[in-house]
Amino acid sequence: MSLRTVRVPPDVEALFSKAEQVVSRFFRDRRDDPTTGTIEIFGERYLLVRAASLSVEFFDLVRGFYGSGLEAEADDFARNILYDLAHTVGRSDAHNFHVKMGLEDPISRLSAGPIHFAHAGWAFVDISPNSKPVPGDDYVLHYDHPYSFESDTWLRSGRKSTFPVCIMNAGYSSGWCSESFDQPLVSAEVRCRGRGDDACRFVMAPPHRIEEYVARFAGASTDQVHGRATAPIPDFFARKRIEEDLRRRFADELREREAAESRLRRAQKLEAVGRLAGGVAHDFNNLMTVVIARANRIARKMPEGDPVRRELEGIVEAGERASALTSQLLAFSRAQVVQREPVEVDRVLADIARVVRSPDDRPITLDLSLDAAGIVVLVDRSQLEQVALNLIVNAREAMPNGGAIRIATDVVRNQERIGDVPVGECVRLTVTDEGVGMDEATLGRIFEPYFTTKAGHGTGLGLATAYGIVQQAGGGILVSSHVGRGSDFQVFLPVHSRGGAAGELADVLSERTSERRLRLILVEDHPDVRATLEIGLADAGHEVIAFAEPRAAMSIDDVTLGAMDALVTDVAMPDHSGVEVAQALRERRPNLPVVFVTGYAADPSTLAAVRGSRVLAKPFRTEDLIHALRILLRSTGDPKSRGGT
Ligand code: ADP
Ligand code: MG
Repeated sequence: MSLRTVRVPPDVEALFSKAEQVVSRFFRDRRDDPTTGTIEIFGERYLLVRAASLSVEFFDLVRGFYGSGLEAEADDFARNILYDLAHTVGRSDAHNFHVKMGLEDPISRLSAGPIHFAHAGWAFVDISPNSKPVPGDDYVLHYDHPYSFESDTWLRSGRKSTFPVCIMNAGYSSGWCSESFDQPLVSAEVRCRGRGDDACRFVMAPPHRIEEYVARFAGASTDQVHGRATAPIPDFFARKRIEEDLRRRFADELREREAAESRLRRAQKLEAVGRLAGGVAHDFNNLMTVVIARANRIARKMPEGDPVRRELEGIVEAGERASALTSQLLAFSRAQVVQREPVEVDRVLADIARVVRSPDDRPITLDLSLDAAGIVVLVDRSQLEQVALNLIVNAREAMPNGGAIRIATDVVRNQERIGDVPVGECVRLTVTDEGVGMDEATLGRIFEPYFTTKAGHGTGLGLATAYGIVQQAGGGILVSSHVGRGSDFQVFLPVHSRGGAAGELADVLSERTSERRLRLILVEDHPDVRATLEIGLADAGHEVIAFAEPRAAMSIDDVTLGAMDALVTDVAMPDHSGVEVAQALRERRPNLPVVFVTGYAADPSTLAAVRGSRVLAKPFRTEDLIHALRILLRSTGDPKSRGGT
């Protein structure tokens, strides 16, 4: 028997010979009818496609799409698409043929492939005897494709490729064999006439063994031309996987970008709110300074217990609460004047507990257990008040039917860092409620700005603000809670010293400087605030030289300047800032004590540039200013302030 359309090892020749008869009968039954645009072979429709359009011309076209400089990418794309296409065509041709012919065992299923291949014009197949077409891991097929349509189109075009060109041939044969053996197989062309080799030679194996065979095959081959590297190993549907991978990565990136953008938008919104709040707060606090100071001044002229005095004290209290509102906004926009100072936590909480009232509609009890007397932390007092208030308000809101809030302080020593809670000695402020509690999901988000479960009336800023403040003070917050079983917030602040801030204050007041009449330079452009401060300070027995314009204050004569105890100045003013006034005067009086009074510090660091100064946030009582001056005068090295005693 002699085979005409395929060459195979002798032991399988009989099998292929039978296949040859079947397939050639199949192809003999061919009917072309251009009037109906139809080519039919054995009742199946076929296509005639010009070979070059799927090979050399296809590569050129794709390169054209990609443009110059991207030839490698273009070739990769073309190779992948041709391989995938041919592989699927090979598979379905095989499937169709097997069903039609009722073929069952793998080898007879395979045998029709090369013959069908030859009849359809792809190539002639020459299977080498060192092939081992057995199902499973050991499957390997070595074969040549003389007359490959692909190499042929390149040679006819007069061009030589830099890579093996018989891509559809490799794809189709691996597709047919995969279908026949019902297992994944890939085929790599290791030599190719299209790039100048002496043959088009392939090796086909299961994907996980193909590289091994390619290497072995290339190494064993003595007649290998040019000794060049072998073929890129095709990977069925590599393109699709790359595409999916890209699409997934793109989706991930998009999601990330959207999240980042929404964070940015929030931050921008916050900044805008902050700037607006800062501007409003500046004017608002100027006005509140006047309201509070004047009401306070008249109140103190009234006898204790006088009902009018109580009314006035009510005004002062309301004024202070109003300015606490702006300070909440300012803390959040970080525009707040932050004045870290020694603060005794117990005192702050005792004060707060006095102002927290039970709501009218339900009984809330406050259980106060302060156990950190005399322990001092370094924090902005009004910010600490805010933290405590936010926690208490949340506790109150968590108990719609009433209940008890326990507020406790104690001193603890942390052996190791837990979250943001630092190592070492800390004052621990605990606020515990018997309220609705929180689930895990809520717990994970409570410190996020704008996170609230109180639709309609929550701002979601309370805990975010508290968190920021505590962090700035070098401390941390721990929370534990269970749904229906209440919540427990613990704020840790590093211990600064013992002995109490009150002791410090008593020291100051007992000093003889406290009796002494102070001589002060006041710079304040706002007429009402200026007048209020002047009156308040004069009432307290101090002498004030007041300036509405920074420039005038800066040109004060040396003698007067030398006689002054301190400079009290606003910060934001037209022409020159308070910082410039302080710096100008300090050139002539290097240790001049300075107190900045401000409603809004856009950049606290500029104030810090004036060494040893103090900052007082508007609104304040005249007593606060005098207190600040006393502390400053006591600590400053200015000979004038000591000399008076
Ligand atoms: P707001 O109170 O405006 O909602 P917060 O930042 O103060 O904003 O609180 C954020 C969220 O944390 C609340 O909406 C609530 O879900 C939860 N939360 C805070 N404190 C408590 C508490 N003591 N008990 C139960 N839930 C709380
Ligand atoms: Mg709140």
